[in-house]
Amino acid sequence: MFDYLIVGAGFAGAVCAERLASRGRSVVVCDRRPHVGGNAYDHYDSAGILVHEYGPHIFHTDNRRVFDYLSMFTRWRSYEHHVLADVGGKLLPFPINIDTVNKLYGLSLDENSIGRYFSEHAEPCEHAKTSEQAVVGKIGRDLYEKFFRNYTKKQWGLDPSELDASVAARVPARMSHDDRYFGDAIQAMPAQGYTHMFDRMLDHPNIWVVLGVDDRLLRREVCYRKMIYTGPVDGFFDHRYGPLPYRSIQFSFETHASDKFQPEAVVNYPNEHEYTRITEFKYVTGQLHPKTTVVYEYPTSDGDPYYPVPRPQNADVYRKYKALADGTPDVHFVGRLATYRYYNMDQVVGQALALVDQLEGTKAKAA
Ligand code: FAD
Ligand code: UDP
Repeated sequence: MFDYLIVGAGFAGAVCAERLASRGRSVVVCDRRPHVGGNAYDHYDSAGILVHEYGPHIFHTDNRRVFDYLSMFTRWRSYEHHVLADVGGKLLPFPINIDTVNKLYGLSLDENSIGRYFSEHAEPCEHAKTSEQAVVGKIGRDLYEKFFRNYTKKQWGLDPSELDASVAARVPARMSHDDRYFGDAIQAMPAQGYTHMFDRMLDHPNIWVVLGVDDRLLRREVCYRKMIYTGPVDGFFDHRYGPLPYRSIQFSFETHASDKFQPEAVVNYPNEHEYTRITEFKYVTGQLHPKTTVVYEYPTSDGDPYYPVPRPQNADVYRKYKALADGTPDVHFVGRLATYRYYNMDQVVGQALALVDQLEGTKAKAA
């Protein structure tokens, strides 16, 4: 008899397992995939290059508790992520900053004039509800059309006018020369990769890991008191209120017999190409190798669920599943798919730490 069955060995499941095991609970963790790490899983490809199987995962957070917690299982390599956007035949810094605007339009704006430039071009919108309103309301229609509209249509299969403002608002417009992708205080990569970190988290005498097994099979085989579920919430309830939409991606890897393929870690393609972005892993991992591997991302509506789709009608359906989840006291739902939230890794770790605090009656520090 286990204290907990945890479904999913990604961040949500692994953090809950480790925290509960460290408090003396016995835990069985299962994942239908043949590996731990969830979407953050990384491994060495046939050329010997460390790649992220489910697309580039860059760790960044303002949450010191989350960082300190993960630091128990990994050393870090300091890393600030840089992205270029392929617009009008030029590779321009993205998120949009002073240099992006100057290089695109041949201007010489500076910190004093960029704010005025944006506000002269913006179409003000007091309470932006959609991603279109959020971007056009801040930086104007031309930059929106060039950098956001088509990328978003490819990524989500929806026009930005059909998506919550929060989606495009993840990417700031900068009134400075700062060309980092993220603004968080802590930006770093696990020195030996994510999978290594997960292996260390789950290496505990109170944790039993079962891979390549769907929870429905395991539920018949093992006895447990409570369950923590990190898979898609609608699947757990047999899609009683219909399927929640998720966006998937098809990843296409290529290895090239050269040291470098592109000038930065990621190049975004807000243009006619079918893929949204190309990532070159060696920039992200810091690995030295005579060859290099890149991944192209082709968004699709079929396939593994990767992204919840933030828009009002989906939030309405999720609310119904949330009510069912709240009425199922011995099952706790945590993580990006189980709570249908467009969460980054650090937010999922924070959510999982908070859940265990609640389950164990320990007081949550600021999460
Ligand atoms: P997951 O990682 O999805 O883990 C859930 C696990 O549950 C999966 O392994 C699944 O196989 C398993 N599972 C589901 N149902 C069942 C079942 N019935 N039985 C058994 N097992 C089951 N975040 C960042 O912070 N920085 C980034 O740069 C970043 N880049 C990303 C890029 C892409 C392309 C994607 C898709 C996501 C990215 N993220 C990034 C987000 C990050 O992947 C998530 O925040 C995080 O991995 C979520 O962890 P999780 O445990 O909630 O879910
Ligand atoms: N986005 C865009 N153009 C870009 C990059 C991002 O329009 O070049 C929009 C797009 O809608 C995307 C969202 O901003 O889904 C959030 O971008 P982020 O890089 O955070 O996406 P993720 O890494 O989660 O896929």
